Amino acid sequence: MDKLIMTPGPTECSEEVRRALAIKNTNTDMDKDFFELYENTCRKAKKLINSEKSTAIIMLGEAILGLESACASFIEEGDKVLCVDNGIFGRGFGDFIEMYGGEAVHFKGDYRKGIDIEDLERFIDEKGPFKLATLVHCETPTGVTNPIDKICPLLKNKGILSIVDAVSSYGGEEIHMDDWDIDVLLAGTQKCLSVTSGGTLLFLSDRAKEILINRKSSIRSYYANLKNWLNVIEEQKFPYTHSDAMINSINVALERTINRGDFVKAHRELAEKIRETFLSCGFNIYPQEYFSNTLTAIELPEGISFDDMFNYLNREKNIVIGGSVGEFKGKLFRVGHMGENAKEEKIYILLKALDEYFESIKISLDKKLHIEFSKK
Ligand SMILES: *Cc1c(COP(=O)(O)O)cnc(C)c1O
Repeated sequence: MDKLIMTPGPTECSEEVRRALAIKNTNTDMDKDFFELYENTCRKAKKLINSEKSTAIIMLGEAILGLESACASFIEEGDKVLCVDNGIFGRGFGDFIEMYGGEAVHFKGDYRKGIDIEDLERFIDEKGPFKLATLVHCETPTGVTNPIDKICPLLKNKGILSIVDAVSSYGGEEIHMDDWDIDVLLAGTQKCLSVTSGGTLLFLSDRAKEILINRKSSIRSYYANLKNWLNVIEEQKFPYTHSDAMINSINVALERTINRGDFVKAHRELAEKIRETFLSCGFNIYPQEYFSNTLTAIELPEGISFDDMFNYLNREKNIVIGGSVGEFKGKLFRVGHMGENAKEEKIYILLKALDEYFESIKISLDKKLHIEFSKK
C-alpha cells in the first residue's frame, strides 16, 4: 500500500502536481512565457481568497519566509506591534517582531478558543496605539481557527495594519481578503494546496503597499524584502532566479482546488464528521470552540505514548500522523485533512489503522472509529 501522509502539512501531492514539477525547464529571468505563467498563477491564487484588489507575490522559500518577510518589511525600529497570541505560531511571531527591531506586545487569548473580540478591543484601547498586528488564522499545533472576519475589521478600525498567517487555512477555509480588511495574508504550498514545501504566497492590500513604499528606514534583508517584489510583473524582473517547476506545480494545484468547486464546504463537512467520530468514541478534541476544518487536534488518552502510536502506524500501516510541538508535545495527536488529504477514503484507512492500534495495546474504545465514521 502507498504511504499515507496524514499530517497537517506537508500533505500528499497528487500525481498531477508531481508531474507538474517535472516540466522541461526554461530561463525564468528571460523567458516571457514564464512571466505569463507567474502572472496567471498569481491571478488564480487570489481567487482562493476572493480578492480582486490585492497584489499577489509568490516567493521561493518555505512558508516561514512569508512570516519573516512580513516582519522584516513592515516593522521599523521601535514600532509597537500587537502580537495576537492564542497559540504557538501566534506567540512565535513575537520573536520575528523583536528580531526586526519591533516591540512585541502580547495579547494572550485562551489557547482552546478563538480570539475574543471584545477582550481584544479593550486591550488595544488600553495598551495601544499599535502600528501593526500579527495574528494566525489557523493555529496548526492546536487546531483552533481564529475569527479573522471580525479581528481584521476591528484592527483596521483602530488604524492597525493586519498581518495574517493563513499558512494552514489558505485553500481550505473561507477567506475574503478584501471584504474582511486583511492587509497582509501569508500562505504556503505544502498545506492545503498539496504542493511540496518550498513556496510562499503573500497578498498585500493597497494600504499595506503604501506603508511599505513609505517606510522611513531601509529594510535589513534582501531575500525577505517585499519592496523588491511589488513590480515584478510590470518590470518583468525578479529579485532572484525563480523556479519554473515550483510555479508550474502551484499553478496546477490552484487549478485543482478551483475545479473542486466549493472547497470550503468540502473541508468543513469532512472536518465535522471527523470531530463527531472521535467524540463519539470517547476522545476529547483539544479546542473547545472555533475548530479548524483543515486539521483536528485530539488529546492523547491517559497512558498512551504518542511515539508508540506513531511508530505502530508508521511501521505496520505505512501511515504518518502528526504529533504536536512545544508544550503540547506528547499531549495531542493531530490528523491533517487538508487539500488532497481531505478525502473520506484516506480518513477511513487512517481510522481503521487507529482502531487496530488501540486493539493491539488492549484499549477498548467506546465504538470502532472507522465504523462510526462510515455510518455518518
Ligand atoms: C506550517 C505552518 C507554517 C510554516 O512553518 P513550518 O516550518 O512548515 O512548520 C507557518 N504557520 C503556520 C500556521 C503553519 O501551519
